[in-house]
Amino acid sequence: MTDGPTYGFDTLQIHAGARPDPATGARQTPIYQSTAYVFRDAEHAAALFNLQEVGYIYSRLTNPTVAALQERVAVLEGGVGAVCCSSGHAAQIMALFPLMQPGCNVVVSTRLYGGTVTQFSQTIKRFGWHAKFVDFDDLKAVKAAIDDNTRAVFCESIANPGGYITDLRAVADVADAAGLPLVVDNTSATPYLCRPIEHGATLVVHSLTKYLTGNGTVTGGVVVDSGTFDWSASDKFPSLSAPEPAYHGLKFHETFGPLAFTFHGIAIGLRDLGMTLNPQAAHYTLCGIETLSLRMERHVENAQKIASWLEGHDAVEAVTYAGLESSPYYDRVAKVCPKGAGALFTVALKGGYDACIKFVDTLEIFSHVANLGDTRSLVIHSASTTHRQLTPEQQAAAGAAPNVVRLSIGIEDADDLIADLDRALTAAGS
Ligand SMILES: *Cc1c(COP(=O)(O)O)cnc(C)c1O
Repeated sequence: MTDGPTYGFDTLQIHAGARPDPATGARQTPIYQSTAYVFRDAEHAAALFNLQEVGYIYSRLTNPTVAALQERVAVLEGGVGAVCCSSGHAAQIMALFPLMQPGCNVVVSTRLYGGTVTQFSQTIKRFGWHAKFVDFDDLKAVKAAIDDNTRAVFCESIANPGGYITDLRAVADVADAAGLPLVVDNTSATPYLCRPIEHGATLVVHSLTKYLTGNGTVTGGVVVDSGTFDWSASDKFPSLSAPEPAYHGLKFHETFGPLAFTFHGIAIGLRDLGMTLNPQAAHYTLCGIETLSLRMERHVENAQKIASWLEGHDAVEAVTYAGLESSPYYDRVAKVCPKGAGALFTVALKGGYDACIKFVDTLEIFSHVANLGDTRSLVIHSASTTHRQLTPEQQAAAGAAPNVVRLSIGIEDADDLIADLDRALTAAGS
């Protein structure tokens, strides 16, 4: 099909990027389990290596199954291109890699997935990069944190673990005024609930592992490029604007225009960092995305119902769901994610740390796992698991205090989930 704004989301989630297999007519996108692709002749090979012609060379860089997924996610996010990678964390490195150099920093929100806090506060230092953590509800603080060496601003749309909503437009305006790209992790919202590019984001990253695949079978990630950032407006992004020594002096922005970031991500990022998504994982994700809107509607409906019920429970101190009127983020839902506040939130128990442990151990339908965005309902006690590496201050700032559990509400019968939670809360209180 020809992809265009004339098609609705429900149509695009099934058809964008996919076409009947030219060789066999296979309707579902086949798993092209091939490492390499035969060149028509030596001239064709040279044109591919020179990036004068787009095609397949070697599956570390490009693969037809992965390409179909890249196109589909790019279309759903309203971007011009996308690069799939081996995980959500790989996508974050791949997003920053063309922008950063040793000595540069990225201004990031304190409200992030626990693994991202560790990646940004510790691991990226090995590359000579530095992250400055700021409360993104305080726009003055975001602005103040930006300095001459800042190369990007990073946040989540619906943020972990509490389901907080970021005012993306306001943050994008701050980044814009400083001539910097805003990178938004849209994993918890998915493009069905929120399209960050429409709010001014330059790049969108995802863990495909979560809602996009949707059934807990795949580890994968993707970076989507809006194609709107002018990489040549300053000398801050030489990998994109100046001759790139890692590709015999090619000027990516001059050569590829709005696709500069995408081409750089494939020709250099995947080529040299090798964080490639495998075609089988891409196939599972293509299948999963076909039902994204249906699943997200049910995720949101269940989350809304369960969060309201939990808020009225005696054993519960607080519920962070932004879809509740009690949430300070309630007003942002209509603006940022009008189809709903997602299905991820935290619950603070009056019984503290011990009650949380008893609660997660008693639940039956909810699985105690370090994952989110599955069809199955999931629970985790962040302070003793995903956020264990963080200091108490970082835990509190990230919404992962010791008396808090995070719920990822699945698409089962809401009444069954409520009965399960009720039983576990009673056990935790006794
Ligand atoms: C899971 C997750 C990640 C990391 O993704 P992986 O696929 O596990 O590497 C990043 N950000 C958010 C919001 C996530 O939920």
